[in-house]
Amino acid sequence: MQITGKVALVTGAGSGIGRATALRLAQEGASVVIADLNAGTLEGTARMIKDAAGEATPVAGDVTREDDLQAMFGTATRAYGGLDIVFNNAGIATGLPVWPDTPVEKWERTLAIDLWSVIRGTQIAIPLLSGRGGGVIVNTASMAGIMGIPMDPVYGAAKGGVVLFTRSLAYLKAQANVTVCCVCPGVVDTAILREAEDPRVHKLLSYPSIPPEEIAGAVMQLIHDDDAAGKALRVTATDGRSYAEPDAARL
Ligand code: NAD
Repeated sequence: MQITGKVALVTGAGSGIGRATALRLAQEGASVVIADLNAGTLEGTARMIKDAAGEATPVAGDVTREDDLQAMFGTATRAYGGLDIVFNNAGIATGLPVWPDTPVEKWERTLAIDLWSVIRGTQIAIPLLSGRGGGVIVNTASMAGIMGIPMDPVYGAAKGGVVLFTRSLAYLKAQANVTVCCVCPGVVDTAILREAEDPRVHKLLSYPSIPPEEIAGAVMQLIHDDDAAGKALRVTATDGRSYAEPDAARL
């Protein structure tokens, strides 16, 4: 899909991958509804987009709350007349104490943000996008959702759920011209790792990490790709080349 003139919604847009992708979408000519729990960092993203002569409307809210989610999607319709592209990206790590000692309420929160909100966000998006003749939904999964992650198994379960939820919706391209796909980043240098409660998560940053702008580039590639339905695009390279999903790597 061409991005110029389209309307996009990005969740988790206050920081890291969401911020970089919202900026890139605006630079490519989309009007962007930017959403995040953190109103302060969200204003920072809005300023960056404005400074780049882009168009953005911030909506502070929690993607696990139905009324907040409705406000995010409703803003796209009210401010820009509809919606074409959705990036379900907000996410957290579970933190301490490490599983299996994690209290139920804490790992429920991980599942709510990292998986439930993706399923609900996709559900709300489909009729909005198909009503405009079609669109693209990109979900943020993770390499942890393919390989597993012993230091945060609930996070791995949520991201694995995102991968298989996405793959299960490949049929929507033929049925409603809605492409549902996901991006599976490796280690990206953002707050989720830098500010993690678990020191073992910090150690991931000792591996070669990927700048969030590269993940934004991979998301753009997915949006532009007319054959992306059901794809789970792995992004582990750091050389800025175009990302390919080898057939053998398909689940
Ligand atoms: P980040 O912490 O910089 O950004 C996450 C954003 O999500 C934050 O701005 C945060 O405020 C927001 N958020 C959290 N809970 C929310 C909620 N309930 N409602 C609305 N917004 C909420 O981290 P990031 O790396 O940019 O993370 C973006 C996505 O990428 C996440 O889904 C994460 O799991 C995924 N991811 C990150 C890495 C990595 O190494 N950084 C790797 C693979 C996948």
